[in-house]
Amino acid sequence: MRFSGLRVLKEGLTGNRGWTPHWRDPDPNSDYDVVIIGGGGHGLSTAYYLARDHGITNVAVLEKGYLGGGNVGRNTTIVRANYFLPGNSEFYSHSLKLWEGLEEDLNYNVMHSQRGLINLFHSDGQRDAFARRGNAMLAQGDDAVLLGRDELRPMLPYLNFDDLRFPIYGGLYHPRGGTARHDAVAWGYARGADRRGVDLIQNCEVTGIDIEGGAVKGVQTTRGAIRAKKVAMVVAGRSSQVAALAGMRLPIESHVLQAYVTEGLKPCIDHVVSFGMGHFYISQSDKGGLVFGGDLDFYASYAARGNLPGVEQVMEAGMALMPMIGKARVLRSWGGIMDMSPDGSPIIDKTHVDGLFVNCGWNYGGFKAVPGSGNVLAHLIATGTHHQNATGFRLDRFRTGRGIIDEEGKGSQHNLH
Ligand SMILES: Cc1cc2nc3c(=O)[nH]c(=O)nc-3n(C[C@H](O)[C@H](O)[C@H](O)COP(=O)(O)OP(=O)(O)OC[C@H]3O[C@@H](n4cnc5c(N)ncnc54)[C@H](O)[C@@H]3O)c2cc1C
Repeated sequence: MRFSGLRVLKEGLTGNRGWTPHWRDPDPNSDYDVVIIGGGGHGLSTAYYLARDHGITNVAVLEKGYLGGGNVGRNTTIVRANYFLPGNSEFYSHSLKLWEGLEEDLNYNVMHSQRGLINLFHSDGQRDAFARRGNAMLAQGDDAVLLGRDELRPMLPYLNFDDLRFPIYGGLYHPRGGTARHDAVAWGYARGADRRGVDLIQNCEVTGIDIEGGAVKGVQTTRGAIRAKKVAMVVAGRSSQVAALAGMRLPIESHVLQAYVTEGLKPCIDHVVSFGMGHFYISQSDKGGLVFGGDLDFYASYAARGNLPGVEQVMEAGMALMPMIGKARVLRSWGGIMDMSPDGSPIIDKTHVDGLFVNCGWNYGGFKAVPGSGNVLAHLIATGTHHQNATGFRLDRFRTGRGIIDEEGKGSQHNLH
């Protein structure tokens, strides 16, 4: 069934009885050409692009819970292409272009809203760094405008410009940045993959990876053994645990990232605003809630839930930046497990096992990568070669030290990226 205005009208007039489920609920077959472990954003988009771009449809996505129940449904929905370093910048630029055609492509409203993103700066040195970043973005073909304090004030009148510790000097404006409805992205890709014949298998945890003679042969699951010619591990915060099933030790640490939403308010925040010095960022959802977050929990953990020290840090930063936020009531907070890599950049690569692929290391920025990541991983699985916009995300850069993409210049410290 295709979605259209006419269809909505017809269903509205006939009691909404014609809608069908977005995807089937099949039992797993005994073998597939490709098995994707993980039904998050990246796993689902990989399946979609395998079918759409490469005609590979004998594919199963195995999800231990329900589709979109992981980080793809827990993030703060920011989509941007404002990276500085080669390796990252062409990849995120590629991903943003896919976002821009996504709704037509999927025939699904993912509520992609290019409302603009502003990164604030608070010193001359920080302004210089953002000017360089903006120039790199322009050189990449993306958009960036360096705004001074007087240009920023009418755009963001609710900010405390004269905070003694962090006076606002200006901001780097990225007009094509914005947000998208996170779970709709998972549902849209799931529906698109299902319509092309991909089997989406929920409540199916992968418990083992079968390897014979150095090549992958399939997986063991809670719903039985499944043979496969190729297997991709696309499990975000669970990457180390799943890779261990293939005898691999990944350079990944898992940390909790929390986020918060307030009661619905009238529109008051038109952009996405990032206050890097205070580790705070905010946007307003279409329902009116102020959606905001801060820094990681600094210790490694698989607990996908919030805690009070995180609340204190984020609320303090929010109050420093925009004291008006103190009047809003916080409704909910939550946490997700971030797969932090040593240089803050992802891994999309083959492994030492023939036919086994790995996609991980998204840190806290993998939502905006969902289209790009699936697109380039599908290319790697189908052709055996790296996509031209994702040649730098090699696993062995952490063994050799060559090709490290340390966007923040933080060094090899997972929780600082
Ligand atoms: C609070 C928060 C805010 C964030 N904000 C942003 C943001 O604003 N912008 C941005 O770009 N990114 C953001 N992120 C990061 C982004 O959400 C993640 O990087 C991205 O969603 C990870 O990829 P994924 O969607 O495939 O992961 P997931 O949705 O976690 O998918 C992985 C799936 O694998 C499944 N799985 C795990 N183990 C197994 C197994 N053994 N067998 C079968 N299935 C398994 C899991 O159940 C899960 O569904 C944020 C994250 C959090 C938590």
